[in-house]
Amino acid sequence: MSLPEISFIRSNIPKISQLSESVIAMENSGIYTNYGPINQKFEKRLVEQMFGGVGQCVTVCNATIGLMMALKYVTRHTDPERQRYIIMPSFTFAAAAHAVLWAGFIPLLCDIDQQDWMASHDAEQALLQQYKDQVAAIFPYATFGNAADLAYYTELERRTGIPVVIDAAASLGARDGQGNGFGQGSPHAIICSLHATKTMGIGEGGFIYANNPEMIEALRAMGNFGFGQVRHATMPGLNSKLPEIGALLALSGLEQLDAVVEKKCSIERLYYDLLPEFTFQRQHGTRTAYQFLPVRLPAQYAPHRRAILERMKQKRIGTSTYFSPHLHEQSYFAANSVAGDLSVTRALAASIVSLPLWHEMTPEMVHYVCREFRAACHAQIC
Ligand SMILES: *Cc1c(COP(=O)(O)O)cnc(C)c1O
Repeated sequence: MSLPEISFIRSNIPKISQLSESVIAMENSGIYTNYGPINQKFEKRLVEQMFGGVGQCVTVCNATIGLMMALKYVTRHTDPERQRYIIMPSFTFAAAAHAVLWAGFIPLLCDIDQQDWMASHDAEQALLQQYKDQVAAIFPYATFGNAADLAYYTELERRTGIPVVIDAAASLGARDGQGNGFGQGSPHAIICSLHATKTMGIGEGGFIYANNPEMIEALRAMGNFGFGQVRHATMPGLNSKLPEIGALLALSGLEQLDAVVEKKCSIERLYYDLLPEFTFQRQHGTRTAYQFLPVRLPAQYAPHRRAILERMKQKRIGTSTYFSPHLHEQSYFAANSVAGDLSVTRALAASIVSLPLWHEMTPEMVHYVCREFRAACHAQIC
């Protein structure tokens, strides 16, 4: 019996063809962008549905631009000649380091925690000690949607005066330890992506959330050419606006989101049952909204990762290796960043595998993936 190809990611983007009434209404309104009525409706509903009605948000055309703007905003009072560094993990996606560089700073790469795979608080502290007055911001990643300890970062910001921005690109749909939407109530900018590969994808898009109206309104102006007044730039600016059609897809995505995440969580649990000998990310929240399942190969298999994934490909199962190479292994970032000790990062990146986890996967598909994954591993050492 042959199973169909199991792609690594299957995007779950709302169908424009099924939104024709709303599209016609948009066309009749003649409003296509500039934080129009559909963007406003999405922002309002997002805060109500995912953040308990607490806080504010502004849409952006993608999360990378959102990260750039948030970093630019929180560092507006720093002296870039003196405070040159932004502390961030090396175990993350390229977008985060690019955002730091575009904002005019140098990534100061720290190691991660052995269990939860997020920036290690000890590693951040060590770099803070070493670079003291030269650190402009701290920029953790809520890795794969894991619930970073926001209370810890709020206290760190209060104590040091160094602002914190959270890369939460993969967090929409994830919940914190209290069961609230990850980020709810955060005074720090929380940046989420709506890229096609994320759990709530619309193609390209994102938003910045915070319980901080002053910051969100400033970022809204920054994203509209820095126009703090009518056609009058009062701050650095660019164009980060999400078109109305994107907001329309996002509104539609919100309707499905909880059901999609719950479905993905049941697939995730099945994976854990079927792969007991593998190591997974330790989670701090009550729910993640994984785009894929990250799994760590046991030490005896890790050196054979390439062959294992090649064999999976022959079985028509798509896989990947987020985040390998990690940032400091990529030539551009190696040349344009500074790194502390990265030993935990190096070991994890060398053994990480990403397995497919999309909401329409059947239990049979998951059984098939796990059977083939285990067989591919065993084949390397016998
Ligand atoms: C997806 C992702 C981004 C970038 O989001 P875009 O919306 O594609 O710009 C940034 N950081 C991380 C960790 C991501 O996974």
